[in-house]
Amino acid sequence: MSQSKSTFRNEVAVIPAVAWWIALFAWALVQFVMLCIVPHHTQPKELPPLPVWSLIATTMGVIFGVIILMIGYVNVDSKRRGMNSLLWTLLVIIVPKALGFIAYFLLRKPLMIPCPKCGTSVGSDFRFCPKCGYAVTPMCAHCGRSIQADYVCCPYCGKNVAVTAT
Ligand SMILES: [Zn+2]
Ligand SMILES: [Zn+2]
Repeated sequence: MSQSKSTFRNEVAVIPAVAWWIALFAWALVQFVMLCIVPHHTQPKELPPLPVWSLIATTMGVIFGVIILMIGYVNVDSKRRGMNSLLWTLLVIIVPKALGFIAYFLLRKPLMIPCPKCGTSVGSDFRFCPKCGYAVTPMCAHCGRSIQADYVCCPYCGKNVAVTAT
């Protein structure tokens, strides 16, 4: 199943466009504050040389941007996993020191998969589609217990299960 395998690139594609725009804006705002506002209110001697200072400004802008992108990611990713999206988005914003993010990545549910028959999002631990009753996980035709698609023999009743995997 290719849906369960997620590469970094696929995960980045999940981030909504609005999060990219906010991240870009935050980056620009940090540059503006660090390079235009701060030098006006401090003595030139108190700041490091301009190349160093602008490097610090760029890095800080990038860090801010990445945090915003990650918030956007959690917002969308929690939705497609059938989790409480609003709660988790607020949690990663409010909880300090990235603990909200750590908690999210530890506790997040597996991705939901679309039901092959009706397209409803089905939790990864579901055996049947809640909308149409389709058997999402392959079952042994003899004893009805869930088995893996590549099994040749049922591990519970020992019968041959040359099933057609969907
Ligand atoms: Zn269905
Ligand atoms: Zn069986």
